[in-house]
Amino acid sequence: MRPYPARQTFHCDLAVLPSGRVAGGVTVEVDGGSIIGITEGAPARSHAQRLPGLVVPGLANAHSHAFHRALRGRTQAPTGGRGSFWTWRELMYSVAERLTPDSYLTLARAVYAEMALAGITTVGEFHYLHHAPGGQPYSDPNAMGHALQRAAADAGIRLTLLDTCYLEGGLDASGHLPLDELQLRFSDKTAEAWASRVAAIDARPGTVTGAAVHSVRAVAPGDLTRAVAASTGRPLHVHLSEQPAENRAAQAYYGRTPTALLGESGALTPRTTVVHATHLSDGDIRILGDAKVTACFCPTTEQDLADGIGPARALADAGARLSLGSDQNAVVDLIGEARALESGERLASLRRGRFRPDELLAAATAHNSLGWPDAGVIAPGMRADLVCVRTDTVRTAGADPAQILLAATAADIDSVWVDGTPVVSAGDHRLGDVARLLADAIDDLWEDS
Ligand SMILES: [Zn+2]
Repeated sequence: MRPYPARQTFHCDLAVLPSGRVAGGVTVEVDGGSIIGITEGAPARSHAQRLPGLVVPGLANAHSHAFHRALRGRTQAPTGGRGSFWTWRELMYSVAERLTPDSYLTLARAVYAEMALAGITTVGEFHYLHHAPGGQPYSDPNAMGHALQRAAADAGIRLTLLDTCYLEGGLDASGHLPLDELQLRFSDKTAEAWASRVAAIDARPGTVTGAAVHSVRAVAPGDLTRAVAASTGRPLHVHLSEQPAENRAAQAYYGRTPTALLGESGALTPRTTVVHATHLSDGDIRILGDAKVTACFCPTTEQDLADGIGPARALADAGARLSLGSDQNAVVDLIGEARALESGERLASLRRGRFRPDELLAAATAHNSLGWPDAGVIAPGMRADLVCVRTDTVRTAGADPAQILLAATAADIDSVWVDGTPVVSAGDHRLGDVARLLADAIDDLWEDS
């Protein structure tokens, strides 16, 4: 068991309660890491810990590849040239090939600490770097996944380890491609071997073991069906349609969109999150809405990689739920992702106010899609994840607290409690100088090259 703190009382000047309602003078009683009582409009009791600013629920980062953080500020023009998603992917692979369980622990610990500073209390790690170079299993076949579990525990946030099935090297009009040298590290060779390795992942407090299939590029339909069956009852995530090229390849070889392929393989259900619902047909939107999947948007990544703007409003109107992810971690700011979700809709539709603030907050707190149904709302029975957003910074001063997600950034987050445990206090993470941790981990990785 996680050593939960004893009973605590917090007093919030302002807090966001269910349905996005902002209330003043909110007392939050916490016991065993969970909220046991909420009182509104009460004066602060003398023993209560006062929480500054506006208190929002812990944020859920529904899609991360922690090691991509090492690429931040290293892939842009002029040194990186103009480039494309696919040239960026070459650089990403060059970082991936250097990682070991030890260096990944060091890097991921720093990245998850950066996430905690941004108010993120659960991360969904879409994890496919499983094996040693050449595809040799480590002596612990889950050494990389266990390093990520430890990194999240050290950084004080919960982890949903979305262990990813990755079996093919890609897809073009002639069919699936063989794995290249680096991709051998991603592959368990068969869906059955993937499932049995995942079954051996340690159960650890603060961790959920979920499942993922990388994409219809990397998992052919028969294996997709097997992977879906092996992951019953757990969150299942999949990259959907990030780039037009993968849609064209699926159409050319299978005569179907990636969405249709996933639907026919039984992969689209309410436990499923489709990541990068970017290039969709009207039929795709209907399929995804009817299946009540969660569509995870990663707007800062989709901007950075020139992916495009996905139909988020149309998906929500069709019945899908929405979540947000930092994906390549070029930016770690879920408030920024929420704002970019709305901004993208405005640019694409030429209309404002496409999502209400409570809808944006729901997308930024979609812990349920990561297997944590008791997180993401400040209410009795829920986990005590409390994030204080300062209302007195140059960015937030004068703003209506009800519209804070349209004004604040991650830099305005003052303090963060995860399961009632303080992880960030007055802007400082419990591990100390997170910028230093990041610089050391990333410099070491590039120096090895
Ligand atoms: Zn991704």
